[in-house]
Amino acid sequence: MKIPKSIYEAMIEHAQREAPLECCGILAGKNGVVEKTFEMRNQEQSPIRYSISPQDQIKVFENLEKESLEMIGIYHSHTHTEAYPSETDIKMAFYPEISSIIISLKEKVPIVKAFRIRKDGIDSEEIEVI
Ligand SMILES: [Zn+2]
Repeated sequence: MKIPKSIYEAMIEHAQREAPLECCGILAGKNGVVEKTFEMRNQEQSPIRYSISPQDQIKVFENLEKESLEMIGIYHSHTHTEAYPSETDIKMAFYPEISSIIISLKEKVPIVKAFRIRKDGIDSEEIEVI
């Protein structure tokens, strides 16, 4: 997937702003190129898990439909662990066809990685910052 530098940096900034709680957001665009980001509220307000309320998701989906954009990915942060899907992330992976982006704040320099999470396996995905 391709992410413009401004959106890439905004995701990291969002993660740092919400820490120690996990942040989450939705990336939208076309043909694997991100054009727009939606900062979402983590309804868990937790440092170890996240979820987006169905009402908040519907608002974004309506917005995407109006602008003819697709949901490309969902991002969230790991404030104390590495940039790899947790057991909870695997259990809660309802959208195996879109990318899961994880921003790790464990080390001084944030690490951002993308995955496709299925119930039966995890594939890494390359992020190209454009
Ligand atoms: Zn996670």
